[in-house]
Amino acid sequence: VLQDEILELKGNIRVYCRVRPPTGDDSAMKVSPSGIVTVEDGSSSEFSFEKVLQGDNEEVYDEIQPFTDKLQEGFNCTVFAYGQTGSGKSHTMWGGSKNEPGINTRIIQDIFKAIDEDKRGEFSLSLSVLEIYREDIKDLLVEGKTKLKTIKACGDIPGLTELAVSSYEEVLDLLQYAASRRTTRATAMNEHSSRSHSVVTVKLTRRGVSSKLQLVDLAGSERVKRSEVTGEQLKELASINKSLSALGDCIAALSVKAKHVPFRNSRLTQLLSDSMSNKAKVLMICCAAPEPENVKESKNTLRWAQRSA
Ligand code: ADP
Repeated sequence: VLQDEILELKGNIRVYCRVRPPTGDDSAMKVSPSGIVTVEDGSSSEFSFEKVLQGDNEEVYDEIQPFTDKLQEGFNCTVFAYGQTGSGKSHTMWGGSKNEPGINTRIIQDIFKAIDEDKRGEFSLSLSVLEIYREDIKDLLVEGKTKLKTIKACGDIPGLTELAVSSYEEVLDLLQYAASRRTTRATAMNEHSSRSHSVVTVKLTRRGVSSKLQLVDLAGSERVKRSEVTGEQLKELASINKSLSALGDCIAALSVKAKHVPFRNSRLTQLLSDSMSNKAKVLMICCAAPEPENVKESKNTLRWAQRSA
């Protein structure tokens, strides 16, 4: 109940931070349980968050579980992972290994747990998984379907595979299949998956109450100098910049309860409009890499996050 009240009190947008463990001995970032992240690079900068997520994926999930409950109550919910490539977004959302599942599967497991506790009752649950790469949409649940262009006003994409699912195991298989379609792309095409956004959408109806959950692993937010890329990469860069800044603009508008939220400015924000607006609950997890060589990007990430907080 207390968690619930906290959620209500603080409005609909949460911004949390997660700093992954350093790969070597050196770390330029410190986190404190009170929500302060300190970055050392000659001088010291402090960023404050509502919550700094610590521990492994299980502990992280415990912290964000109140979201699942909101979904069950009929609220639309969106969880994002934002940060540079290598900062732990996929680890957080998709998971590290079978033993360390990510938020995507843990939330869905919880939904089924609640359905089972309810002796199943009447429910329907559907799943779709897609990737947005250079403003094109690729269906990750079926082979060969790609470039779905249009998005209806409500955020639905005509032609996107939406599968009815009845058990957690079924969802797990589908998510693994979708993840493998992402990974194939990553190895075959030079870390392509870090240049695209992946979106898992779950639609739930229980006792006549419908809600929608979207779980988003965003493209890497690193700033690439225009002078360092050419041709195709330039288009890629332009579309990532466009969608991430459109997302930042929407979150900033939502956080001040602006009348107009510019969802139409990118395919990503168009797609997410109904699971971000009105009473929807939005959780942004800002992921940062603590090694000294990542300080510049980590600061960019934390600054971006503060704008939304
Ligand atoms: P991104 O999706 O942001 O590009 P990844 O999730 O692929 O980054 O993480 C980069 C690397 O760091 C991976 O090898 C991943 O397993 C590891 N990693 C990320 N977060 C954690 C964590 N919290 N604990 C342990 N290893 C992590």
